[in-house]
Amino acid sequence: MRINFLPAYNGDAICINYVHQNVAVNILIDGGTKQTYQTKGKKNTIISGSLKLLVEAIRERKEKVDLLILTHIDDDHVGGILKWFEIDQGATGLIGKVWFNSGKIIAGYLKEPEIKIPELSLVPQDTTDTGINQGVTFEKVIREAKIWDEGIITQGQCLNFKGSTFKILSPSKDGLKALHDKWFREASDSMTSVATDYDQSLAYYLTALVSDPDGSIHNGSSIAFIWVYDEKNYIFLADAHAETLINGFKIFEYDQEHPIPAEVVKLSHHGSNRNISLELLEMIDTDQFVVTTNGNKHGHPDKKGLAKILKSKTNPLIRFNYPNRIDDIFTAEDRKFIGFRTDSALDGIVIEEE
Ligand SMILES: [Zn+2]
Repeated sequence: MRINFLPAYNGDAICINYVHQNVAVNILIDGGTKQTYQTKGKKNTIISGSLKLLVEAIRERKEKVDLLILTHIDDDHVGGILKWFEIDQGATGLIGKVWFNSGKIIAGYLKEPEIKIPELSLVPQDTTDTGINQGVTFEKVIREAKIWDEGIITQGQCLNFKGSTFKILSPSKDGLKALHDKWFREASDSMTSVATDYDQSLAYYLTALVSDPDGSIHNGSSIAFIWVYDEKNYIFLADAHAETLINGFKIFEYDQEHPIPAEVVKLSHHGSNRNISLELLEMIDTDQFVVTTNGNKHGHPDKKGLAKILKSKTNPLIRFNYPNRIDDIFTAEDRKFIGFRTDSALDGIVIEEE
């Protein structure tokens, strides 16, 4: 079993690979930013990102992405997937199944009237003819490819998948309701990952900054889970809210007195302090934490959040999928503090078990 936290710029792209009944299984959790799939270099040369290299390797091995989990619709999680779908006509043919809480699915689950909810649209590159027309949405593509059963993924569910189990910690019904209400209030807001946000004035956004400083409602809709494989727990927190996660762990009968033993935790929201609480950390018995970001855009992780880890754990190992983060975050003074370990790798963090 192998988990690879790919370098995905400021986003998440995680691949789990294992063998079940003599067949290789690949689970992809998010696809990072669009550059994680492909970007342009000097003189318009095309540079393959870590997601594209992963997809090509899977295709080469004649395997599939047996399960694609899109945790939520923020750019740094869905951008690479949209780029993949835009460029690679064979993309959906390579995917076995998708878990994704779309606006429509959420509205149905909450029994709210259907509203105009922005969808993730696929916009073809101007230079290539991809065969996907402008305005085609991610949902339409996965529905027509019959790789999405349109089921809601919510807190408390226990989902079996090819010899492993997902215990869903987030989103909660409240988190989904908040997201739905936000969509309802801001039906014209630019929430699709490939659209620009130019249709509102700077003055508007400046006001919005004060009243709504981040996309935390999106984060509250994140699909986060305990992945159980070979009787071991691996925890993937997406960008979920700490309070939702705490309630999620309680549903599965873990608390501070009975913490869940875990091999590793992928910290929520790229190690943002706002998504890490001492109570949450005390519900998890692990010494291995992974931070997924190059630090761009949001300046994650927060040192304040990492300090909480040092406070609640003995000599934890904090792993970074971008090596430069360690020197950016920790001063020489910090390094003298020997109560924690760090490591990193250029091609992403890899966790392997026999
Ligand atoms: Zn994120």
